[in-house]
Amino acid sequence: METEKLYYEDPYLQEFTARVLSCEPVKAGYAVTLDRTAFYPEGGGQPADHGTLGGAAVLDVHEKDGVVFHICENSVEIGEVSGAIDWARRFDHMQQHSGEHILSGILCRDHHCDNVGFHLGADTVTIDYNTDISWEQALAAEQKANAVIWTDAPVEITYPSREELAALAYRSKKELTGQVRIVTFPEADCCACCGTHIRRAGQVGLIKVLSVQKFREGVRMEILCGGRALRYLGQTYDQARAIGRQLSVKPQDTLFAVERMAAELAAVKQREAQLEEQVFFHIAEESAEKGDVLLFQSPMRPDGVRKLADTVARRCGGLAAVFAGEEPAYAYALVQSGGADISPLVKSLNAALHGRGGGRNGFAQGSVQARREEIASFFRTRQSK
Ligand SMILES: [Zn+2]
Repeated sequence: METEKLYYEDPYLQEFTARVLSCEPVKAGYAVTLDRTAFYPEGGGQPADHGTLGGAAVLDVHEKDGVVFHICENSVEIGEVSGAIDWARRFDHMQQHSGEHILSGILCRDHHCDNVGFHLGADTVTIDYNTDISWEQALAAEQKANAVIWTDAPVEITYPSREELAALAYRSKKELTGQVRIVTFPEADCCACCGTHIRRAGQVGLIKVLSVQKFREGVRMEILCGGRALRYLGQTYDQARAIGRQLSVKPQDTLFAVERMAAELAAVKQREAQLEEQVFFHIAEESAEKGDVLLFQSPMRPDGVRKLADTVARRCGGLAAVFAGEEPAYAYALVQSGGADISPLVKSLNAALHGRGGGRNGFAQGSVQARREEIASFFRTRQSK
């Protein structure tokens, strides 16, 4: 016996009573059938309802040949039972699904394309279209879709005859057989659909497009509607507000402030490089004609370590070894003036000081895990050989 589908008679029905016809143990729990149900089974891109049947949690719902199976955590007694659906979850699904129809109806009409995919996930909602749609075009459609929401027109659900259907221009993902259910959002969309929808356009609340990315022969668009859109925009605004507080600007002026900060940072980096060059020059002067030189520095950028070793090697006339960091983690650069091969030295250094790295033509760069005294001792031993 086919299950009577209360969710089509009244998609706002949250609680109902029904007769339990069967309850069979299955892999995920118990599969329960009823004479009638308000639980929407997964279909048309809309996920299944959750809720309770008697004292049992309903974890999943699916339909086969007109019969709705409620997958429950516990068994349910044959006889009368009361059911309650998780309304927050269902209403969210209705907001996303109806919003998707409005936006897809507008986009497919304006760009002569089809909606070829719809995914309503726990956090994300994506729609695939088989044509290229730019970000600006998506925002234009978003504007139109929200204008449709503000008309608050009633949603029309009809079951047209074959003849009526033949004369109707409607969207459909596949060839349909049997009775077709048509969901119409005036001014926006007319589409064959088996999902549950809000009563009036206004209940979608808000449609926001988050991204448009190339996908297969067209694009994948990420959207959020209603409560989800509000939560997302709220989080984003909170972040803009926190950034604005850090930068002492209004939340809507953060981009300008960040751009200004990036320009300031670039100028500071340039000045830092100039000062660094001067300091390196002085260090190199102090090392002039000293032969092999070992220098310890506070942490530096890797190219700074290399530059200092280079500058010193040009003046000292021997090996310039620079170790920059904090005990016991040092980055090192070795430069042999004259460019003689230092690979045997690097090999023994890495072995003695838990190091890694290498190089060629009188230059090597790497890091070690060693105390300052161990490093100094390594070079003293080397010199005395
Ligand atoms: Zn639909």
